[in-house]
Amino acid sequence: MTEALFRDDSYAAWTEAVALASGPGGIVLDRTVFYPRGGGQGGDKGALVLDDGTAVPIADTVYDADRATILHVPAEGAALPRPGARVTARIDWELRFRRMRAHTALHLLSVVAPYPVTGGSVGDAEGRLDFDSGEAVLDKAEVERRLNELIALDRAVTHRWIADEELEANPGLIKTMSVKPPMGTGRVRLIAIEGLDLQPCGGTHVKRTGEIGRASVRGIEKKGRINRRVRIALSPA
Ligand SMILES: [Zn+2]
Repeated sequence: MTEALFRDDSYAAWTEAVALASGPGGIVLDRTVFYPRGGGQGGDKGALVLDDGTAVPIADTVYDADRATILHVPAEGAALPRPGARVTARIDWELRFRRMRAHTALHLLSVVAPYPVTGGSVGDAEGRLDFDSGEAVLDKAEVERRLNELIALDRAVTHRWIADEELEANPGLIKTMSVKPPMGTGRVRLIAIEGLDLQPCGGTHVKRTGEIGRASVRGIEKKGRINRRVRIALSPA
């Protein structure tokens, strides 16, 4: 099981680590700052720098089949660290921060449009959520105005861990119907946006909503009789 430093500090851009196993399918470290693909958010890219200064480019990050070991997928043809090698693991911070802003913006979007979420995706300073909005009419300009209002409140974004049983006793916390929160390890991570939102989430977020910056609603598409897809984009940082 890889120690996942991003869970408690999403701003950690690098860490020292030891390579435990290594192959073309992935490099396993004892600890990492690389977020593995999941929950609609892409896997981190970056590099592992060896003692001799060689950089091993990492093209993607994924979970192994056990969902506990994190695989750093090397770029094709990259030199691999030997098991036991000390490395400095450094993510592409610009990319990650754009995803953190987009991810946090989607939490706020679920406040503006308080309907069951059926799908979603976190892109590069952009993202989308699908909602079962029923008969409600989602107005593009109104959603954008309210989303920017919430961003401008500059509310704190924090996390805390609760036991699986506590979440099971409070099913109202789960907004996403398609993506079940990561359970089974005995504890679940809750993301709170001060006074606005509380939901289980394993992704990476900014510390204050003000860091998201200006958001625009790119479009609201009809995906089904009661299902709507809302696409947002963020201004450059
Ligand atoms: Zn989240």
